[in-house]
Amino acid sequence: MSRTSGAELLVVAGPSGVGKSTVVREVVELRPDVWLSVSATTREQRPGETAGIDYVFMSRPEFETLATSGGFLESAEYAGNLYGTPREPVLSRLANGQDVILEIELQGARQVKAAFPEAITVFLEPPSLTELHRRLAGRGTEDESVIRRREEVAKTELAAASEFDYRVKNTDVVPTAHQLIRLIDGSAASG
Ligand code: ADP
Ligand code: 5GP
Repeated sequence: MSRTSGAELLVVAGPSGVGKSTVVREVVELRPDVWLSVSATTREQRPGETAGIDYVFMSRPEFETLATSGGFLESAEYAGNLYGTPREPVLSRLANGQDVILEIELQGARQVKAAFPEAITVFLEPPSLTELHRRLAGRGTEDESVIRRREEVAKTELAAASEFDYRVKNTDVVPTAHQLIRLIDGSAASG
């Protein structure tokens, strides 16, 4: 990205419950100039989520129509629901020189890296598997069967960590957010 407009596209992935949403929200709190992409999804709205801010919630037919017309930069099915990054808002912000964060799952991260090799991909890792389970269960937004399904996906996701440009352990939210900001600003050590 930096070669054209000076803006960075940061892709944050990692297993469900690791703290991706929490950390990227902290990044935009600390750096309001960075734009967090709003994804579309067919999953049900959780209590506390705001339509149009946390996600654009849509039916499966609506999502599929948008996907067919090329409306998504990337899209994937995750634990029985469809998720996608609306293309136009991301491209226009990057073109205007604004840094953009995508918080997406593994298949989407691969699609973005294939289409935009300059994108910076980050895999957020949990301090331990026990802590990952504690966070996922502690969030209290899914029932046991959904948690089990997400933990199955998490095993595949954890195995793909080495595909990413950077691996960042999310021990404490604020220091982790600062690490991501350093990556956006190009001031992190490589690896
Ligand atoms: P994800 O977006 O990766 O599914 P969330 O951001 O929803 O994960 O976080 C899952 C749970 O873990 C939430 O209850 C959140 O408050 C908590 N959490 C996130 N980061 C941390 C952290 N560094 N330490 C302790 N708890 C965390
Ligand atoms: P959740 O249902 O917990 O909000 O999200 C489930 C998974 O979907 C998470 O790993 C999240 O990062 C991912 N996700 C959210 N939005 C998108 C998106 O636009 N595209 C893709 N590929 N994954 C997404």
